[in-house]
Amino acid sequence: MAKNNKTTADKELQLREALVKHYGQNAWDTFAKAYAKAKLLHDGQTRFSGDEYIIHPISVAITLAELGMDKNTVIAGLLHDTVEDTPYTKEELTADFGIDVANLVDAVTKIEKYEFSSSQEAQAENWRKMLVATAKDIRVIVIKLADRLDNLRTMEFMREDKQRQKAYETLEIFAPLAHRLGMFKMKWELEDLSLRFIDPVGYADLSKKVAYKRVEREQYVQSLISALKQKLDEAGIETQIEGRPKHFYSIYRKMYLQGKEFGQIYDLIALRVIVKTKMECYMAVGIVHDLWKPVLNRFKDYISTPKPNMYQSLHTTVIDARGEVFEVQIRTEEMHRVAEYGVAAHWKYKEGKDAAQSANDSFESLMLRLRELLEWQSEDHDAEDFINAVKEDLVVDEVLVFTPKGDLKSLPKGSTPIDFAYHVHSEVGNKCASAQVNGKQVPLNYTLQTGDVVSIRTLSMARPSRDWLNIVKSTQAREKIKAYFKKTNRDENVIRGKDMLERDAKRQGYLLSELVKKDALSNVLSRYSFKNPDDLYASVGYGGLTTNKVLFKLIEYYKEEQKNNPDAVLAEANLKGKKPSKSTCHGVYIPGVDNVMVRFANCCNPIPGDPIVGYITKGNGVSVHRLDCSNIASTENSDYRMVDVKWDDGYKGMFLSRVTVIADAGVNINKLSADITLMIADIGMELVIISLDRHKNVIKISVNLKNVDQLNNFINKIKAKQGVKNAFRTNE
Ligand code: MN
Repeated sequence: MAKNNKTTADKELQLREALVKHYGQNAWDTFAKAYAKAKLLHDGQTRFSGDEYIIHPISVAITLAELGMDKNTVIAGLLHDTVEDTPYTKEELTADFGIDVANLVDAVTKIEKYEFSSSQEAQAENWRKMLVATAKDIRVIVIKLADRLDNLRTMEFMREDKQRQKAYETLEIFAPLAHRLGMFKMKWELEDLSLRFIDPVGYADLSKKVAYKRVEREQYVQSLISALKQKLDEAGIETQIEGRPKHFYSIYRKMYLQGKEFGQIYDLIALRVIVKTKMECYMAVGIVHDLWKPVLNRFKDYISTPKPNMYQSLHTTVIDARGEVFEVQIRTEEMHRVAEYGVAAHWKYKEGKDAAQSANDSFESLMLRLRELLEWQSEDHDAEDFINAVKEDLVVDEVLVFTPKGDLKSLPKGSTPIDFAYHVHSEVGNKCASAQVNGKQVPLNYTLQTGDVVSIRTLSMARPSRDWLNIVKSTQAREKIKAYFKKTNRDENVIRGKDMLERDAKRQGYLLSELVKKDALSNVLSRYSFKNPDDLYASVGYGGLTTNKVLFKLIEYYKEEQKNNPDAVLAEANLKGKKPSKSTCHGVYIPGVDNVMVRFANCCNPIPGDPIVGYITKGNGVSVHRLDCSNIASTENSDYRMVDVKWDDGYKGMFLSRVTVIADAGVNINKLSADITLMIADIGMELVIISLDRHKNVIKISVNLKNVDQLNNFINKIKAKQGVKNAFRTNE
């Protein structure tokens, strides 16, 4: 067909251009052989659209080239369907293109064979794990994503039910994988394409709404861009700014899942500012906050603390003069590339020796590779978090097995049919008599393998054996077996549970006999639907309820009964006050008092190290002020409401504090504020907001920090800077 030949020729040209662009002038030499082979093998095959089949592998290869993948991955992209759909074998492929390419294609082929049956989130997660376990090499996943992307782009010729199935699969399995790998551009395109097939009406409706007033909106965005551009130019910062429209799927989710009206979605637009250096990022954010009013607590510094998928950027949300709220993202070109392409952007794949090595990529070397990608922040503890996150999310200290109905279950590595039985249901575990794996009888201590189909035979007379505690691998199964044995010995448990409660009540300064005297006990019994106290004690005895839970409620009811005069809580606590209780919610505690609502006063923002005092408010708990707070001074006549408050030294949280900096006239205040912002991250504090007043030469900073020492250190460092007239702590 003439049309086909023309389409193919166009597409081939596009491929050549992409290859030259990304791999240099002579790139075609490297890829010509693979292209010729793929074209020959797929000759005569067509797609639903009527186009020649070769169009598909070409598209996949173009996507991979644009991602900047290594050459073998692009070659594998050209050949990815040959083993599946043509007589070509893995052995021939190895002989023609080497083991690395052959392994990539082989793994893609294996994945192709899965029939995803995912209706629940948990199941989709298992499928994602299965995919990665099968792939063994991240490049396989990237090829699969490119493959899926082209399938979706050309899906209009498929049957409608097929379209929907593929689209759901993409949303549940492939788009989240792209997200994990930080490939946001890929993720967004996959999501928007899927939405078109899953809800064509909703999609059309949304496009109409987005299109409505588009011209006006675009003009408005342009005016924002030029205002900001002018300020940045004045500061000598070279930038590219774009008005980034939200992608459809995220608007759709907000509208249909969170039940919002289109008009309520304020962040339809966002500005993206690309600058040259990290320093300029911080300078730019100061300028943005000077131009528009920042929204409190929306500043996010993903540069000093990158996201686990390597994303780096500064985010802030601002309000302009006409009251529009929008987000501004600021990053360098390099960070931008990572944001768009994720793991692929960091691909430093070495050809040659390492290529053969990667043939047998195990989980360990996959992780090693990921570690390499993270070299640029290797000193950072985030690297470890990232590794753990990937480990939890994607791989492989587990076995994935099927129920006879084909549901996937994930169990710890080394699990047995008993683990499986308890995973299905406690009663299946407790009545488990024998097990079959892949249709054959196995002993109950058999070690399950990924891919096994497991079925359990139960008998009503069957009982767990104590030996099982030594066989099972999952904590879930072990807990359930223990629970079974505990439940079967009630009398012992009643005595034990009562002892435990008495002991722990004493520890908290109460006598159990006092606590259970009045209504408190019956309140607790009815709360947990127990008929009598023995049931409650037995439950505590075998570990069904913790003593903490029960005592917490008992004490709460007990205090309720005692609470006839307003200072009863404190009075009672002071009588008891032998040793300070450390039940504290905010990093402070009132010696001897438990269970009182404590909060920090907004007027003076105390931080650890400040002398503090508590003020017992009327019905609103205790509010904590600095001792020298003017609001406290004005309440002299209510001295009896003051209460001693102590800092909890063990508390690890952060506290809000404010600093005002006055700069010398004529100082570059943008540069100064950027310096200070960088310093904040360096000394382990968190920036909440920074704002500039250019006319008064004033910089106002809100930070989260640990204590007074850190604050003083910070202020001294600022004072030591050139061009700083003064810096001091402020209340607002
Ligand atoms: Mn394909």
